[in-house]
Amino acid sequence: MTITVRFAPSPTGYIHIGNTRTALFNWLFALKNNGQLILRFDDTDVERSKTEYADAIATDIEWLGIKPARIEYQSKRFAVYDAAVEKLKTAGLLYPCYETAEELERKRKLRLARRLPPVYGRDALKLTAEDRAKLEAEGQPPHWRFLLPNFKDDPFMPVRTDVHWNDIVRGPETVDLASLSDPVLVREDGTYLYTLPSVVDDIDMGITHIIRGDDHVTNSGVQISIFEALGAKAPELGHHNLLTTISGEGLSKRTGALSVGSLRRDGYEPMAVASLAVLIGTSENVVAVSDMAALAEIFDPKATSKSSSKFDPAELDTLNRTLIHAMPFEAAQIRLTGMGIEGTKAEAFWLAVRGNLSRVSDAGLWWSIIQDGPVSTEALATEDIDFVRAAFDVLPPEPWNRETWKLWTDAVKTQSGRKGKPLFMPLRIALTGLASGPELADLLPLLGREGTLARRP
Ligand code: GLU
Repeated sequence: MTITVRFAPSPTGYIHIGNTRTALFNWLFALKNNGQLILRFDDTDVERSKTEYADAIATDIEWLGIKPARIEYQSKRFAVYDAAVEKLKTAGLLYPCYETAEELERKRKLRLARRLPPVYGRDALKLTAEDRAKLEAEGQPPHWRFLLPNFKDDPFMPVRTDVHWNDIVRGPETVDLASLSDPVLVREDGTYLYTLPSVVDDIDMGITHIIRGDDHVTNSGVQISIFEALGAKAPELGHHNLLTTISGEGLSKRTGALSVGSLRRDGYEPMAVASLAVLIGTSENVVAVSDMAALAEIFDPKATSKSSSKFDPAELDTLNRTLIHAMPFEAAQIRLTGMGIEGTKAEAFWLAVRGNLSRVSDAGLWWSIIQDGPVSTEALATEDIDFVRAAFDVLPPEPWNRETWKLWTDAVKTQSGRKGKPLFMPLRIALTGLASGPELADLLPLLGREGTLARRP
C-alpha cells in the first residue's frame, strides 16, 4: 500500500508558518517513505471558504517545494458525506438534537453543579417520535450528534472507554471517550462540521497516516470511533506541537501573521522557511538545509517536543543568509536573469556578492554598482581625492584576475606610504560608493580596467 498523507487546510485565509509545519511534516514523512501527499481543501464551510485562498495556498505549497499528487475539494463531495450520514443514521449512531446554545449552556452548568462531567447528557435520545415531530412542526430543525461508543447497554451511563493509539510524534496516547460530548456532525442548517467529511475522505482517499497539530488530539479519539462506525480502521495518527509568535500568541489564518505569502514577498528562501518550520521545537539543531531531500534525512517526528514553540523571524534571517552565502549560481540564475543580471560576468558576479546578501534581490544593487557606477551615499573625503587619483594612475595592465587587487594596492602602498584602512577605504568608496561590501579582489576583475578608470574622481 502506498503511504498516503494529506494536508487539509480550510481555505478561510492565507496559510501561516504553523500550517507550513503541518504541511512539511506530512511532505517529509511522504518523502521518507516513498509515499504521496494529497492537498485537500476542507472547504465544506462555503460561506467562509474562498477560491482565492485555496489558490494562494496551492501557490504557497508549491513555492515551499511540496508537490501534491493531486488536489481535492471537499465542496465537490457533499454526496459522499450525505451517504455516510445515512449510514450512521441507519445504524442508530447519528441522532437528532434540538437544544439551543442557551439551553446547552444551562444544562452544562447544571451538570457542573451536580458534580457531573460537563458533557452533553444525551437528553435528545429520550425524545419520542412525537416529541421530535412537534419540535420540528414548531420550526426547530435538528442538529445531529454522533453517539460515542462509551457505554455498555445504557447510553445514559457512560463508562470509561479509553481509545489508544501509538502517535507517530508523541508516542502512546489515550483519550477517554466518557470525558467527551457526543460530537455534532451536522449543524441545524444542514451544513457539515469538519469532523465527518474529514473521516469519510481519509477512508475514500486511502490515507494511511494523518499528521496534524496537537490541537486535534481529542478530536482523534472521536474520529477513531467514526472510522470504526463506518466500517474502517483509522489511519496511523501523529500530532505535532504548535508554533506561536515570539510573544507566545497563537497563529491565526485570520490575522495574516507570519503568512507564507508575506515571507515569500519579503524575499525569504523557501528552504530557510522550511528548515525553521520543521526543525524549531525539536531536539534537532536548527540549521539551514539547502534541499528537501536533505531535510527529509534529518526529519524525525519523534524528535518533536510536546510543548509549543516560539517562531522567531530573526532566526529566519540568519538561515536565509546562510543559504544565500552558499547558494550555487544555478540555484539563483533564474531570479538573477529576472533582474537583468546575465551575460558572461553573471556567474563571477554572483560568487563575488552572494556572501554579502541577505536576500537574493539585494544582488540588484551590486549589479548596478558594477554596471552603472557607485552609489553616491558615501562621499569621498576631500583629503583622499588626490590619493585616489594618484592610485588610479598605477592601475596594473590587463588581463585582470583575483590577484590584481593585491598587485594594485601593493603599488599604491609603495607610492603613497599609506596602509591599512586609510589605504583601502578611499579606494572602496571611489569604486562602490559604499563603506562596506563584497571583497574588492572579486569586484575589480568584474569592473575591468576601463570600468575602474571610469570611477577616477
Ligand atoms: N482543516 C483542519 C485544520 O486545518 C484539518 C485537520 C486535519 O488535518 O484533520 O485544522
